[in-house]
Amino acid sequence: MQDNFNPNKIFARMLELTNAGNLPLVDKVPEVEAKVSLLPDATISPAKFKKHPQFERVWYAHPQTIRAVRPDVFVLGEEGMEDFIKVVECEKCRAELDLQFWKHCPYCETFFAKELLSNINLKS
Ligand SMILES: [Zn+2]
Repeated sequence: MQDNFNPNKIFARMLELTNAGNLPLVDKVPEVEAKVSLLPDATISPAKFKKHPQFERVWYAHPQTIRAVRPDVFVLGEEGMEDFIKVVECEKCRAELDLQFWKHCPYCETFFAKELLSNINLKS
């Protein structure tokens, strides 16, 4: 079957391989290739993420959340993130949001005012 050559499937198979000591042969995605996949699931509340039961770097989120989240957030390490915290209030729905995570409001899809974004230093 053509699908057997899908790189994601091949990687999933690699993760299942074990060595003679029955330990995983490949335990995670190499750091440089660290990428997260977000799969749409409309049953999840906006701004929430649910881990895939098997794959460490696969998450489910509402399609609205996927559109709003900054794609580079998940690639960054968890340490040091507090340096970039900038909580703002959505002008429309009044939700408190951290600008380092969102391109626009994940609840109502309102874009943030330009002056809020101008003094924050983010990639892309
Ligand atoms: Zn909002």
